[in-house]
Amino acid sequence: MALETDYLVIGSGIAGLNFALLAAEHGRVVVITKKAPADTNTNWAQGGVAAVLATDDSFERHVEDTLVAGDGLCDRATVELCVNDGPAQVQRLLDLGVRLDRNAAGDLDLGREGAHSRHRVVHWEDVTGREIQRALVTAVASHANITMLDEHIAVDLLSMAKYGGDAACFGAYVLDRRTGEVKTIVARATLLASGGTGKVYVYTSNPDVATGDGVAMAYRIGAAVCDLEFVQFHPTVLYHPMARNFLLSEAMRGEGGVLRLASGETFMEHYHPMKSLASRDIVARAIDNELKKSGADSVFLDMTHLAPAFVRGRFPNIAERCLSLGIDITKQPIPVVPAAHYMCGGVKTDHTGATTLPGLYAIGECAFTGLHGANRLASNSLLEGMVFSTRAAAAVKDAPRARPSQVAPWSYGGATDSNDAIVVALNWDEIRRFMWSYVGIVRSNKRIERAGRRIEILRDEIREYYLDFKITSDLIELRNLALVAHLIIESARRRKESRGLHYTLDYPDKLAEARHSEIQLTNGPRG
Ligand SMILES: Cc1cc2nc3c(=O)[nH]c(=O)nc-3n(C[C@H](O)[C@H](O)[C@H](O)COP(=O)(O)OP(=O)(O)OC[C@H]3O[C@@H](n4cnc5c(N)ncnc54)[C@H](O)[C@@H]3O)c2cc1C
Repeated sequence: MALETDYLVIGSGIAGLNFALLAAEHGRVVVITKKAPADTNTNWAQGGVAAVLATDDSFERHVEDTLVAGDGLCDRATVELCVNDGPAQVQRLLDLGVRLDRNAAGDLDLGREGAHSRHRVVHWEDVTGREIQRALVTAVASHANITMLDEHIAVDLLSMAKYGGDAACFGAYVLDRRTGEVKTIVARATLLASGGTGKVYVYTSNPDVATGDGVAMAYRIGAAVCDLEFVQFHPTVLYHPMARNFLLSEAMRGEGGVLRLASGETFMEHYHPMKSLASRDIVARAIDNELKKSGADSVFLDMTHLAPAFVRGRFPNIAERCLSLGIDITKQPIPVVPAAHYMCGGVKTDHTGATTLPGLYAIGECAFTGLHGANRLASNSLLEGMVFSTRAAAAVKDAPRARPSQVAPWSYGGATDSNDAIVVALNWDEIRRFMWSYVGIVRSNKRIERAGRRIEILRDEIREYYLDFKITSDLIELRNLALVAHLIIESARRRKESRGLHYTLDYPDKLAEARHSEIQLTNGPRG
């Protein structure tokens, strides 16, 4: 028996939960999330939310900063819409009970981040995302119209095309990770709020849930995806076997941190006059080059020349985390590597979050709205999640109900339990490593071609495995990861220029005309 609801939300980060709270005012909402509700990228956000609040700031400045970062590919109307809504969204966060730091005068404390021309980032210490996640989870838990199903992972979206109609989404098959049962959830509107794709790369600042499931599921039922080659790499993620994914804020370089090789030599002077203070993409590229040249595992971020009390006071959480791993950042340089951080592209949407398929919406990091263009301005993504979840919650009210009279339950077929889980682990590892080496920070035609050949072999293997064995969470994620890797490779292959985050040795210059790379499945579903 299918579970029926008005709105099915896939993901419990800022976008999914803000949508759920607003949509619950006019319908029943089921939120599914593949692990615990706070296992999200949102929970790890450090810096904060960008909004025009200072007297010396203006909407025009924020718009301009976003357009400059986006390197010719932002959609101006989307940028203006988000920027203009910024102050109202900060007020909504406060209304939801989110604590934000204030200055001595009692006004919101505004941080400044790379490429912002003014102070405009509201924050809670250096753990803003954790505070937002806390407030949203609390609000959702007490709402009578919202059901939260944790440990539930969406497997595939339901499409009317399977029932003889035009492609339109009416829900999803969902695996209950605790029991292994695949449930059918039917909804008037299905909201992808499934976050990013960082796990496609071996080094990432993202938590384990960021496997691009939303992009893969949407693509498989025919929705258009856009600009997936623009992957933002953060230059400084802690390199330590016991600490995967721990980000070292850009503010550390802002406060005087210096990048060094293992020998102690500095190297950024060979890349940019601003040395260690150069922008995120330039520093990431420089580190990548040094690591490729030397074969070393990491470079080092050195804070030891700064006053220990200042370092500990300014970066309390980072200092504590490093110390727990045996690194006293006031005495030892910190080993760092660049890492995949943010996906600028995603499932193509309009200003209401609607995708190219009726019944299917995408919000937050999994969506392509046109805000980020070829490079995201720091702290614009939490804002984007708030803005478009709000707009989608208003739009779904009018979504027509389209569903077949009988919905086929999930077919377990002849699938047996896999006794070869090692295959999943090895394929997973292989994809993440070659994506890092070939379709990472610095690309070339040859590297992209190599990656393209490998991913097709692996996708065939994974498809066979998928048909033969009972699905598990790991297998679902691997299948999605492989498809997203394929889409990133394909998007990168089509871009014959270097622009924003896409840098290729074969086309170092930018073309005169800025174009999006949109991809849509045309000849039948393929996993
Ligand atoms: C370390 C770090 C620091 C950051 N700092 C900032 C910052 O300071 N400012 C800023 O603006 N942005 C920042 N970002 C980016 C920002 O945090 C994210 O872009 C944003 O939180 C994404 O929100 P979301 O709701 O779209 O997705 P997420 O918060 O990632 O939530 C996605 C949800 O979808 C669920 N999910 C995924 N697939 C499935 C599936 N198949 N079935 C069921 N559930 C599924 C996940 O479990 C999760 O609950 C940072 C990101 C990281 C990683």
